Amino acid sequence: MGKGGTQHFEFFGPHGPAVLVLVLPAVCYALIIGCNKESCLKLWPEFKLPSLPQTVSFYSNEAMLVYLAWFFGVALLHVILPGQKAEGVVLPNGKRLTYKLNAFRIFLITYGAALYFGFVSRQLDLGWLYDNFAQLLTAAIIFSSALSVYLYASSFRKGALLSGHGATGYPAYDFWMGRELNPRLLGGAFDLKEFCELYPGMMGWALINLGMAHKQWAATGSLTTSMLLVNVFQLYYVVDALWCEKAILTTMDITTDGFGFMLAFGDLAWVPFTFTSCARYLVDYPQHLSVAATCLVLAVKLLGYAVFRGANSQKDMFRANPSDPRVAHLRTLKTERGTQLIISGWWGTARHINYFGDWIMGVAWCMPAGLQGLASVVPYFYCIYFASLLIHRERRDEHACRLKYGKDWDKYCALVRYRIVPYLY
Ligand code: NDP
Repeated sequence: MGKGGTQHFEFFGPHGPAVLVLVLPAVCYALIIGCNKESCLKLWPEFKLPSLPQTVSFYSNEAMLVYLAWFFGVALLHVILPGQKAEGVVLPNGKRLTYKLNAFRIFLITYGAALYFGFVSRQLDLGWLYDNFAQLLTAAIIFSSALSVYLYASSFRKGALLSGHGATGYPAYDFWMGRELNPRLLGGAFDLKEFCELYPGMMGWALINLGMAHKQWAATGSLTTSMLLVNVFQLYYVVDALWCEKAILTTMDITTDGFGFMLAFGDLAWVPFTFTSCARYLVDYPQHLSVAATCLVLAVKLLGYAVFRGANSQKDMFRANPSDPRVAHLRTLKTERGTQLIISGWWGTARHINYFGDWIMGVAWCMPAGLQGLASVVPYFYCIYFASLLIHRERRDEHACRLKYGKDWDKYCALVRYRIVPYLY
């Protein structure tokens, strides 16, 4: 049992996060060292170790200032621009928080401005993001680490509402998981966790991808199909998340997890600087896709989307109104908790079939960079990492559902046997 009463430790036990806070930033740097304009790690057909360009630098004051200007600029827009108001779920103290939602609006302004000044008026060299990628990564790591220290320290103030998972009394574990559930600034008007989850990091991801496209365009005068596909696929994902901002209020990240290093680093450094590996690779190693290869990539993407959207929509519709004619035919398992679990349709094939669809889409994101002979493992980083994330997340949700549903969950598992991939896993 944990010092604060928690019985269950994730992430390799109470001391595991002490290693993770060092390993994850190292992975971000390893991706740059492992694949850059000089050379790229190759596993097959011949094994080749990469080397670092002589000129690469990992820190600059300029990148630090640009990063801070971006973070605080977006924060300022969030505060001054109007936004829809929405209520979060009921908290353990019985209260509900109100959130201001204007992510999509801010993204339209920032991404639109980057597109215009970068590609139309050509006053902005977005390729700077490629040239200063390593320095910006360092800025994001320093900033998210400093934020995590602040979050940890401020969570000890009187009256802070703590997360059930992140207040165990083990400092490394709590620093990682986050002690406080919903830290806020400006007298409670600015929700730090929701802001970091969707604003600077997600938007930064799309902007860095755009910077990579700009670099290729400036150097060659055109864009390869592979660069276009990676940009469009990932832009769609970002836009979808920002457009549906309200949906984040019911996710595990917002309702259950505290705000600590795991989310601060994940949102501000990991997402924008590792998810852009494919686009960065395509600047250094442009890939020209044939029509057949383009069709294959599109087909994989559509397949993934059909599974992802089909499953998520089916569950959302069912949870909103089980008598909706589109879901009323589904077979269900009644539970003592009161809610029903779907056991046919998408949810009869695997208990997290939606994760499988999401992962297939991730494969399609990596394919444009690696289709021609699987040149390097680095462009496939996203789908390798995402598989491990989803496997881990499924275990976390499984644990939560077992607590919620008790023996009904065992009945459900007997009826729907596979976790994520039908007939396989
Ligand atoms: P889910 O949308 O799968 O929701 C899990 C919850 O759904 C369970 O806790 C349970 O809650 C309910 N549920 C489970 N099985 C059933 C069933 N058979 N019938 C009805 N309800 C059921 O999980 P997430 O919130 O983790 O994921 C949401 C989406 O976000 C996914 O598509 C995922 O792929 C994506 N995602 C993307 C990430 C990224 O980094 N890109 C990271 C994580 C997730 P209850 O019964 O209480 O309603």
